[in-house]
Amino acid sequence: MMGSGNGNITIGHVWGIPIQINPSLFLILGLLTWTLAGGLLPAAYPEMSDLGRWLTALLTALLFFASILFHELAHALVARRNGVPVTSITLYIFGGIAQLGGKPKTPGAEFRVAAVGPASSLLLAAGFWGLNQAFGDRGYLGASTQWLAYINLILALFNLLPGYPLDGGRILESIVWSVTGKQETGVKVAGTTGQIVAYGLMALGAYRVFQGDVIGGIWSVMIGFILHNAATSEKRAFLQQGQLSGTRVAQVMGIVREPEIAAGLTLQQLVEQHILGQGQGSFIVTAGGSPVGVLSLRDVSQVPRTDWQQTTAGDVMTPLGDLPRVEVNDELLTAVQLMDANQLGQLPVFDGSQLAGLLTRDEVIHHLRLRAETGT
Ligand SMILES: [Zn+2]
Repeated sequence: MMGSGNGNITIGHVWGIPIQINPSLFLILGLLTWTLAGGLLPAAYPEMSDLGRWLTALLTALLFFASILFHELAHALVARRNGVPVTSITLYIFGGIAQLGGKPKTPGAEFRVAAVGPASSLLLAAGFWGLNQAFGDRGYLGASTQWLAYINLILALFNLLPGYPLDGGRILESIVWSVTGKQETGVKVAGTTGQIVAYGLMALGAYRVFQGDVIGGIWSVMIGFILHNAATSEKRAFLQQGQLSGTRVAQVMGIVREPEIAAGLTLQQLVEQHILGQGQGSFIVTAGGSPVGVLSLRDVSQVPRTDWQQTTAGDVMTPLGDLPRVEVNDELLTAVQLMDANQLGQLPVFDGSQLAGLLTRDEVIHHLRLRAETGT
């Protein structure tokens, strides 16, 4: 779940880190408030007014999300202290993600960054339990503080499951890394145990469905799927990084420079002259002879066919200024990370102030395949 920019809303900044929420969170906030107002609170306080019930439920649900944010901020703070920049924090339906701008450099740092998450949830569980003990018999605070203590304890325990992408997986990775001296071994182990944990959750979900707990069961299966994807892609991304490192952008970008097209060319002309006949997929768009943007097949396919006559390359291109800048001598890994972070299929590559060409995702994949086949 490493996505960013896909519809997330930035709600503010803490220590300069953007805090984003996924729109699905509003749905969960509603569901959770409804569940608490309809179940937990009336069971504990049958005499409570409707308004009181709903307000207490909403406040409790908001404190739950604040707990998740607290957990992620703890990761972020310790990551920064250990020299790892934090790009953003996103709250999702299932919890949060502190997006780090790299991996910690030592097993000790990896351990600290991971372990502080469950530790902070345990601290919150203890805090809410303390509040419950102190004020639980006053007003209507008892049920909510007890529930918040319980849910934070569950969060801590769930996150300690020893597999990617959970904190427990990173703790396991750091231990294996420290014992074997090889981070790659740690990553492989935590990736595999993450897949096992995910299958376990799916099996548990199936079992719960057969037991009659359909909603709870489907929920488990869904979390299992998401964790499985995350564990698999995290392991793959790390191993791919190893394959990409040491290679420069210039070694991979095509020898043949992408064709240049004028900004005034209509999409109809482009498709007829370049795409159908020659099978080209990426173009450099020029105005007055100098490059101003890039255009890919994907940009063309997003325009309805009926508009191809009236739409020009200049209308749908991505201007060069809107794209990250890569130099021919930059590390390929850096370029691929930029593509991933910005969800781009190609990047303009510069040689000094001159545009040298485009680096496309196809070229990267081709390069990786060649290396795999030749065993280099
Ligand atoms: Zn965590």
